[in-house]
Amino acid sequence: MEKIARLMRELEDQLVVCMRCGMCQSVCPVFDQTGREADVARGKLALLSGLMESMFDDPEGVYQRLNKCLLCGSCTANCPSGVSAQEIFLKARAILAGTMGLSPAKRLILKAMLAHPQRFDRLTEWGARFQKIFTRPVNDIVGTSCARVMSPLIRDRHFKPLAAVPFHRQVAASDRPAGKSGFKVAFFVGCLIDKMFPGIARSAINVLEHQGVGIYLPDNQGCCGIPALSSGDLATFQKLVAHNLERFAAADFDILVTACATCTSTIHEVWPLMAAEQNRRAAERLAQRTMDINQFLVKKAGLRPQKASNAKGRRVTYHDPCHLKKGLKVFDEPRAVINAAAGCQLIEMAESDWCCGMGGSFNLQYYDISKGIGRKKAAHIIETGADVVATGCPACMIQIGDMLSQAGAQIAVRHPIELYAETLDE
Ligand code: SF4
Ligand code: SF4
Repeated sequence: MEKIARLMRELEDQLVVCMRCGMCQSVCPVFDQTGREADVARGKLALLSGLMESMFDDPEGVYQRLNKCLLCGSCTANCPSGVSAQEIFLKARAILAGTMGLSPAKRLILKAMLAHPQRFDRLTEWGARFQKIFTRPVNDIVGTSCARVMSPLIRDRHFKPLAAVPFHRQVAASDRPAGKSGFKVAFFVGCLIDKMFPGIARSAINVLEHQGVGIYLPDNQGCCGIPALSSGDLATFQKLVAHNLERFAAADFDILVTACATCTSTIHEVWPLMAAEQNRRAAERLAQRTMDINQFLVKKAGLRPQKASNAKGRRVTYHDPCHLKKGLKVFDEPRAVINAAAGCQLIEMAESDWCCGMGGSFNLQYYDISKGIGRKKAAHIIETGADVVATGCPACMIQIGDMLSQAGAQIAVRHPIELYAETLDE
């Protein structure tokens, strides 16, 4: 309760900053779909001003309204008063879950699975083995599957299946010194890359080694914790932060890199704010030396354009993940990586930084709204005539893959680092 009371006091101080100007309306992807004031940052902040009363009067209503948000940060990036709506919403969700409790399904997923990295690994490995019984491939170019029989959870989704072998079983833990670049990085893998997109992590390792960067890759890495915190489960989030700090905080490296925009943003922005008191200083120090992999390669490791003359020509468009562009202001560097990959021609799509509509559990809870937002993104991608859409976040890759696959498009969904790694040896 002490933690909840502290969050409550912090929230009260932050809420007074909103001057109710409404400028967040024009940039909110959820408002764009629903047109409801209650769904935009201003409406949610007004609700939170009377949080104590509303929590007792209509706790379910408060919970629903707070959760109807992608935590995309578009409102924060465009707020003239500097209101950090995402931070406020995360704290408010923690307050609500701390007083009302989590649903049984969330308790099972977050506390019994995600909070225990090795158990989570084993369960997803079992899932990967048996998934073909319930699912079938649907679009080979996009790389999606769908349910064999209608299921209320999967619905009509075209999803990325679990990898047959996760990254942590493909590449052993290692600790190698800096090479010609003079840098040594720690590589934080992230759950989605480990379990669904191991090729991104392999590409990252290959490119880092090619650049002469030393790599510290510890085993038994955990989730960055954002799925737990987004659901208000502060205890699981703090447990995962502590688990990861044990693996990274005292190790010898210059910079921690990740290939997942959401992990980078969480470690950089959220760990220092929401880690347990005794871990806050260590989280702050690690955050200060955390970077997106594209940013590291371009700004620090001197990534050069490849000259392979036999590379296949590819027309590539790029989607800006919200956590990378709006949160960390990283948008030139992933484009530089694509331009440096042999044979790639970058074609900009309209509104490349408009949210894809994923938002983690938002997609599970409000799939129809998520789909409405994602279809707009897919239409912009298809209009470019590109063969490949690249983006720096595996969660965006899942949502974009779903939307393109449902539209019947034959467009591959890749990470910029994969495009660069593909032509390394040519
Ligand atoms: S959150 Fe910012 S943009 Fe939105 S109403 Fe408040 S001050 Fe205005
Ligand atoms: S974080 Fe995104 S979805 Fe949530 S209120 Fe702000 S702009 Fe809207």
